[in-house]
Amino acid sequence: MVIIRSCFKSILVLSIVASCWILSVHGWSKEGHILTCRIAQNLLESRAAREVENLLPEYVEGDLSALCTWPDKVRIWYNYRWSSPLHYINTPDNACNYNYMRDCHDQYGAEDRCVDGAIQNFTSQLQRYVAGTDLKHNMTEALLFLSHFMGDIHQPMHVGFTSDEGGNTIELRWFRRKSNLHHVWDRDIILTALADYYDKNLDLFQRALERNITDGSWTDDIPSWTNCSDLFSCPQTYASESIKLACDYGYKGVTAGDTLSDEYFDSRLPIVMERIARGGVRLAMVLNRVFGEAHVDVAAA
Ligand SMILES: [Zn+2]
Repeated sequence: MVIIRSCFKSILVLSIVASCWILSVHGWSKEGHILTCRIAQNLLESRAAREVENLLPEYVEGDLSALCTWPDKVRIWYNYRWSSPLHYINTPDNACNYNYMRDCHDQYGAEDRCVDGAIQNFTSQLQRYVAGTDLKHNMTEALLFLSHFMGDIHQPMHVGFTSDEGGNTIELRWFRRKSNLHHVWDRDIILTALADYYDKNLDLFQRALERNITDGSWTDDIPSWTNCSDLFSCPQTYASESIKLACDYGYKGVTAGDTLSDEYFDSRLPIVMERIARGGVRLAMVLNRVFGEAHVDVAAA
């Protein structure tokens, strides 16, 4: 176990060094994932907070967000290539809805291999770890994958159309720079907001999101965000929300070759901010349930 853990730490260190120059093209940007994980970690109850800290390598000093982009970094490594299709869902062009049986598979048709299936899988691994029945999997990885994929499933263009790969093949300009529609939602909107409104300071952006959660425009919505009777069916709702938003706001009015600027930015930024917040609030809900329920079980036993 010690060997596995130290190997994993080495892999993490190597991956961070190796990936500094690799451009990520899938998933919320680094900033989006960091925000999702920071929001989640600040909402953890004491037992879940302790368990998360125990699972993290020492060098991040208890900061989950420091490793929330790790799954994006390793997906191109040959030994983690299996995880690459787990970051998204391709839905039929223009259907604007999501169906697990129809859509949750990889390009070869292997079932359950999509971001919804992955969230279920890693939730289940953590539950079995808590119950003491999973001695097989690396639970640090399970935590990092779950935390990352809860972010990805809330990025609307991660549940996009098949033919354009969630907007990746729709090339356009973001203001004056070349980009594509997927990347606009992964990164461009967030970085423009950071520059325009938050002095390029991620802490200020985070505080704005957290204010809206605790005492602001989303406060009344939190119970509906966290309402989940079955942890294994709720990701389906999150994916359904995303493809609806992808149709209503992502793809809407956009054609390859367009230049997207102020109008698109102003109308889509509130969606991006809310999705990051939802992902964080829901990740906290899942972790609190997974680790909190163990507490109840142990107490009852
Ligand atoms: Zn991702």
